[in-house]
Amino acid sequence: MIIDFHVHITAPEVIARRDEYLERDAWFRELYASPKARLCPVEELIAAMERDHVDRAVVFGFGWRDIGLCRQDNDYVMEAVARYPDRLIGFAVVNPGAGDEAVREIERCAAGGLRGVGELMPDGQGYSFDDERTMAPIVEAAMAHDMVLLTHCSEPVGHIYPGKGAVTPDKIIRFAQRFPEVTLVCAHWGGGTVFYELMPEVARIMHHVYYDTAASPLLYQTDIFELAARWVPGKVLFATDFPLISHERVIRQMEAARMPTATLRRMLGGNAWRVLKLGEPRPFS
Ligand SMILES: [Zn+2]
Repeated sequence: MIIDFHVHITAPEVIARRDEYLERDAWFRELYASPKARLCPVEELIAAMERDHVDRAVVFGFGWRDIGLCRQDNDYVMEAVARYPDRLIGFAVVNPGAGDEAVREIERCAAGGLRGVGELMPDGQGYSFDDERTMAPIVEAAMAHDMVLLTHCSEPVGHIYPGKGAVTPDKIIRFAQRFPEVTLVCAHWGGGTVFYELMPEVARIMHHVYYDTAASPLLYQTDIFELAARWVPGKVLFATDFPLISHERVIRQMEAARMPTATLRRMLGGNAWRVLKLGEPRPFS
């Protein structure tokens, strides 16, 4: 069972009118102004999953600043999940800065079968991940509907790239301390938060925090898989950031890493199965 925990899908009408959307959202422009940055509709994802033997994918739209655009993307994700219920698990994009409207959107999406909230993009959406007043209602709504939160994260050091933002390990660890009960998936290895799991006092407060491997080949040496397999084998969620990175590329890196087969299986799908509560019996123990 291979589950890709981080995939963006885009409605054909957004792809067709890409230039217009580049004008409408500055963060979208930051990430997709380059014509090389791919956007893909759900059919293309399903074809790639077939090719690379990926069983399921967690899918979401783009973290727009405008809640109306978030709703539009969520409609597309709900349609996609209804079309491929055995392949896709949908998350809802919202801007927490929209307050009650964001909470209502989470409720609407929960009723529509979506299982998480994300990818949150605080840098583009105009709030701080650290802002308790903005985040508390979102956490509460997600927990009320048994939904997972997934946030974009970035390293506070290293090379600059489109999308590098301010959700850094210090903010993530403070968030986990403030909201210890919510299941939080930190994208892109949590911008390095995974390394702080070696500090006992940090590990103690990170019980419900997981790390996805989205975009890993663009950020880290392949050794990261081997190291993470040693200290947080139950917290790593295979992810690509498709269509940015192919499934095959990340799977190949993980398979090449030295780790027990059982750990590889957990990281490729077993952990995700548990986090998403996909039901019993679990494929892995
Ligand atoms: Zn991201």
